Formats: sequence, C-alpha cells, structure tokens
Amino acid sequence: MQNSNKNSNSKSYFLPMGIFLVFVLSITLVFFICVFRDIEKNAQKTVVSNIGHQAQNFQNIFDQHFQYVEAIAQYMGVQDDLTDERNLSLLTAMAENSSMSRMLIIDPDGTGYYPSGDQQYVGDYEFFHKALTGELSLGGPFESNIDGKQCMVLAAPIYHNGEIVGVLGASCNLSTLGDMLLEDNYSGSGCVLIANSAGEVITYNVDEKMSELITYDTNFFNQLYNVKLPKEKSRNQVMKDFTEQDNDLFQFTYRKNQYYMAYQPLELEDWMLCYMVPRSVARSSYQFILRYGFVLCAALILGMSALLLTVLLSTNRTQTELLEMGQSDLLTGMLNKKSTEEMIQQWLDSEQRIGLQAFVMIDIDHFKEVNDTYGHAVGDEILKEVSDIIRQEFREGDVIGRLGGDEFCILMKNIVSDTNATAKVKMLHQSIRTHKFKDIGDDDRVTCSIGVSYAPMHGNSFDELYHTADLALYKTKKGGRDGFNIYDSKVNY
Ligand code: GH3
Ligand code: MG
Repeated sequence: MQNSNKNSNSKSYFLPMGIFLVFVLSITLVFFICVFRDIEKNAQKTVVSNIGHQAQNFQNIFDQHFQYVEAIAQYMGVQDDLTDERNLSLLTAMAENSSMSRMLIIDPDGTGYYPSGDQQYVGDYEFFHKALTGELSLGGPFESNIDGKQCMVLAAPIYHNGEIVGVLGASCNLSTLGDMLLEDNYSGSGCVLIANSAGEVITYNVDEKMSELITYDTNFFNQLYNVKLPKEKSRNQVMKDFTEQDNDLFQFTYRKNQYYMAYQPLELEDWMLCYMVPRSVARSSYQFILRYGFVLCAALILGMSALLLTVLLSTNRTQTELLEMGQSDLLTGMLNKKSTEEMIQQWLDSEQRIGLQAFVMIDIDHFKEVNDTYGHAVGDEILKEVSDIIRQEFREGDVIGRLGGDEFCILMKNIVSDTNATAKVKMLHQSIRTHKFKDIGDDDRVTCSIGVSYAPMHGNSFDELYHTADLALYKTKKGGRDGFNIYDSKVNY
C-alpha cells in the first residue's frame, strides 16, 4: 500500500516532467530549424558574393590585359616599319614576361607576323576587323596551336601619325584563369565555368565528380538534361537568363549530390560566369555553429535530466520520510496504533504466514503513579526505555508497535512452537522488571503485565487476537500484575 502510494506520487511527476521535456525538445527543434535556415541563407549569400567578386576580378584582369596590349601597340606605332627587328624582339620579351602566351603584329591586309618569323593569315577574324576600326576587341576562344589550350585574343589598333597602320594581337590563356577562379574560393570543389549566351563553354575548371558533366565539346545547356533542376528553375529559364544576362542562384542535384548553381554576366562579350558548388562545401564554414549547438543542447539535456532526477529522488525521499513519520509513534519511534494494526492484519492475510503466530500485549503497571511520582517527562523516558527493551528482545521482522499510553504489542511471526514464544515473553517480562531505569530511584522497579494469544487458535484477525490477548492481560492485572498469561478459551474471563 505504501509502495503503491509512492508509485502514484512518482507518476504524478511524470506529466509535468514530460511537458517540460517536450517543451525543451520543441525549443531545441525550433533552434536547430532556425540555425539550419540561417546557415543555408548565409551559404547562399556567400556563393553569390564570391561569384560577384570573381566576376569583378575577371573583368579587372581583362582590363589590365587590354591596357597592356594598348600601351605596347602605341609604342610600336612610333616605328616606321611595324615588323622591324626592335618591335619583334619586344614582342618576344613581352610574351615571355607576361601572362600573354603569344603576340603578333597584323598588317592591314590580314597577315600576322610572329616574332619567331612565322606568319598567319587572320584577315577572316572579326576581332581583327573590329580592331582596324579603332576599337579594342576580343577574339576567340581559340584552341591554341602552341599548347592546345583555350585562349582568347586581345587586339588593339596600332596608330602611326594618327592613322591605323596595323593591329597588335595577344593571346591569353583562359584555362589558367579558370583554375584561378575555382581554386580561390572552394578549394577546387565543384565547377567554375565561363560560357556564352549560346551555352558554348569558353573555359572551365571542374573537380573529379563533375568532370563528365562539363567539357569543351558539349553545350552547357544540353548538360542541364543530366542534372535534376529544382521545380522553380527549368532548363529554358537558365537559357533565358544567359541570353538576357541575368544572374540567379538555385539548388540542383547531380548524381545524388546537392549543389548550388550561381551565375552572373561578366560584362565581357555575352559571357556568363557560372559556379556549381557542393552544398556541403558551401556550408562547411558555418558548420561550427551546428557543432556548438549540439554541444549546448547535449549539455542542456544532461543538466536537465540530472536536475529532474535530483528533484525526483529528493521528493521520493521526503515522501518516504513523511510516510514513515505518519506511520510511527513520535515518542518511541515504534509503529503507531493504526500502522501496527494494518501491518499485523496484512501479515495475517499474507501467504508468507506459515503455522503459529503469537500476539503479545504489554501494559506497564501503575504507570499513572510513575507519572505522579517522577513527573510526565520521566514517564516519557521510561516509555522510551521500555520500547528499546522490547525492540532488543524480538526479531526485526516481527511487528512491534505502541498501541497508546503505556500499552505495547508484538506480533511474533511464524514461531516454531508456543513454548518458544512463551520463553521469549518470560524473558521480556524479566528484562523490564530487572532493568535499571535512568531517572528513578535505585530501588524502584518498573514492572509490566502481559497477555498472549495465538493465531490461528485464538483468532485470525488483528481484532480477534487483540481481544483475546487483552483478556489474558486483564487476567494478569487481576492476578496482581507483574506477570503474564496466555489466553485460554476454556477460562471464563
Ligand atoms: P495499570 O497497572 O492498571 O495499567 O495502571 P496504570 O496506572 O498503568 O493505568 P493505565 O494503564 O490504565 O493508564 C496508563 C497511563 O499512562 C495513563 C496516563 O497517565 C499515562 N500515559 C499515557 N500516555 C502517556 C505518555 O505518552 N507519557 C506519559 N508519561 N504517560 C502517559
Ligand atoms: Mg498501565
């Protein structure tokens, strides 16, 4: 009964604890959803800002190259003969000391002169004609006939006495630029490419995972058939963006990996700079927030569990103490009447009860006089000492209680024989009468009267045993006190 009380009390803690736990878990969930969303947002922002910087970078590099080519063209125009030895050796030196892989001087008739002495007719190329009109122009991309790599030709008109007398062309390696753009940002993960509005790949740099997707031989737009685009972005829309030189960012899946695709116009021809970055790589610099979040939550949950456990344990302990206090007699620490009765009845009804049980009732003789002689406080002390003697005499498993006033009772469980019990009762009687109580005179003695009844012969319930033992006790009192009697059903009490 006590245990079930405690259990139901513990259970009543589970509901608020459960609510609290659900509350904390919900907060944690909301926290992580917010963190995930912010990481996503920031990773996307970073990709957009990176591509913006790289586009700017790319434009600056091209501007510098153009200025460089223009300055050399200006210098060459001073000479009367464009292809004289000085100009040609200057070109060799320039090609060796700059990122331009090759330079040539082109006559107005379209013949190009390399410093090596080689000649090449370039009169059919648009860049040449554009430069002849006085504009800086860009040609290509071409496959370089030196190293087979993609290159662009930067062309500037050469003026002599205010007239255009030729064109200076400088080829510039594109793949080096592509390498630089990718390495710079995402340690070579994913892909960076420059394509024109028709989807022709001008230059690119890919990691191994994407190497089959982007090549010079395949149109970029056609390769979009091989990736899973998001619902809101179709291949046609990407093509439209490229044609209209718009920028965008979205997610796509390629071979089960998720990527961000971001592009923006380079403001150079109709070129678009496009990044394809693995989502995990783009988010990696923000992952530390999640790690800290997990550590924080783990600490929080651990701390909370420890707190709840402590509260539960201490509440249980308090409950046990309160329960024990409610069950015990405050003066002697023995069971009080109510719990003595309950425990004896419980035992009598239990299956553990085997054979004979002895019910012993003790009442101190003339206790009123003790109180009157020595005072109530001394009377209390005597009650405590008597209860200690009783406790010492009997087994721990026996039920020992104070029924009230100077009356005690003991249920001796599963006794071997009535003679055994009688011997114990005799010993108890002697122990009390020979005990030297602290606060009373040396010659004064405290005696008690005892009545004993047995289950099952004299009763099977607390009430029956109490009644029969009380009759035996009454007989002892009547017989002059200071002794004991066992109930006898043949006697007329
Ligand atoms: P008898 O020999 O017939 O038992 O006489 P008695 O004087 O012992 O009378 P009885 O057992 O009927 O009464 C018990 C007395 O014990 C009554 C009361 O004065 C005293 N008493 C009851 N409770 C306490 C207690 O907590 N402390 C003290 N000091 N005395 C108590
Ligand atoms: Mg008495």
